[in-house]
Amino acid sequence: MERKIYVNYGSDARLMTIALLEAANISERIPKDANIGLKPNLVLDSPASQGATTHPEIAEGVIQYLQMHGFKKIFIMESSWVGASTDRAFLTCGYSELCKRYHIPFYDLKKDETIQIKTPIGPLSICKRAWEADYLINLPVLKGHCQTVMTCALKNCKGCIPDREKRRFHALGLHKPIAALAATLRPALTIVDSICGDLDFEEGGNPIQTQRIFMGEDPVQVDTYGCSLIGVDPQKIEYLALAQEFGAGSMDYTPEDIILLNSPLNDHSEGKIYHGKAEYLAAFVQQDQACSACYGSLIHALYRLQQQDQLQKLPHIYIGQGWRGKTLNGIGVGRCCAGAELHINGCPPSAQEILRVLQEWIQKDEGKL
Ligand code: SF4
Repeated sequence: MERKIYVNYGSDARLMTIALLEAANISERIPKDANIGLKPNLVLDSPASQGATTHPEIAEGVIQYLQMHGFKKIFIMESSWVGASTDRAFLTCGYSELCKRYHIPFYDLKKDETIQIKTPIGPLSICKRAWEADYLINLPVLKGHCQTVMTCALKNCKGCIPDREKRRFHALGLHKPIAALAATLRPALTIVDSICGDLDFEEGGNPIQTQRIFMGEDPVQVDTYGCSLIGVDPQKIEYLALAQEFGAGSMDYTPEDIILLNSPLNDHSEGKIYHGKAEYLAAFVQQDQACSACYGSLIHALYRLQQQDQLQKLPHIYIGQGWRGKTLNGIGVGRCCAGAELHINGCPPSAQEILRVLQEWIQKDEGKL
């Protein structure tokens, strides 16, 4: 297993995905004639633009790449959450069209046979097709979650179990079974849809544009890196440490492990319309021509501060290319705002780094540092 994370920014998810797969030379690591299963997040029937489900263009990029490299046995599978129809999600999210175009079968795992597998916490029931794939490609969305705070690679595996087991997961407190399932199912590759994942809710509704896709082979490392992008402390996500303990991967990574294929998209997020919570948070920012990735990171960081009731303590915050070369009285986010009184470096800085600096500023201001 290679322990590198490849990151790509852009506006064409299909091409971005192909570029990631090419950069990591993934085709060389897939067994010849492998039965390849793609597992997107189709938790419910909501289009990807709402922040809950995987963009079909990412699956399309994977299919095109695999077919270009001679792989023929490709299928897509999912089981939406309890109470939702996978068939409806399949249609609404654009997968029905996709499967027709590429002659790829789609399997609703709610209708699949199940088997019992041994895991570190005892037997778990799993859908047979997911278990029997020779090469499993996990296609989660990086987004907030109302119970586990964040959801990405590890939690997306929950769509590979029957509904009765999903209910039992909740009774078991989610964290342990999520970690045990991921450690046993072991997806070979994870490609994360971080284009516009939701701020705090797995059902979507508050999508935050970041125009990013990232990919790695270690799902624990992928999730830990994902935490940094949305300002969540990975030590506080119980299932990450448990997954590491169960042998699913490692939470460690260094800056050298992150391979950036390009810079954030120069798409100026001021054109984007934010609603609800994101719109409220955006009001705390002086924004001028900010890239989506930068602005999205800041919104995630501000959301964490809001949860700690610290938003009102902030000085002026500047972000965007329009502030380049200007002297700014307050905190500047990203390389473009180097002229600010206090400057958060990076292009874009992660939400975790923005949060760290903002918290430090507040503590200093209160005389606590
Ligand atoms: S620092 Fe400037 S160029 Fe870099 S992502 Fe932020 S706004 Fe864009």
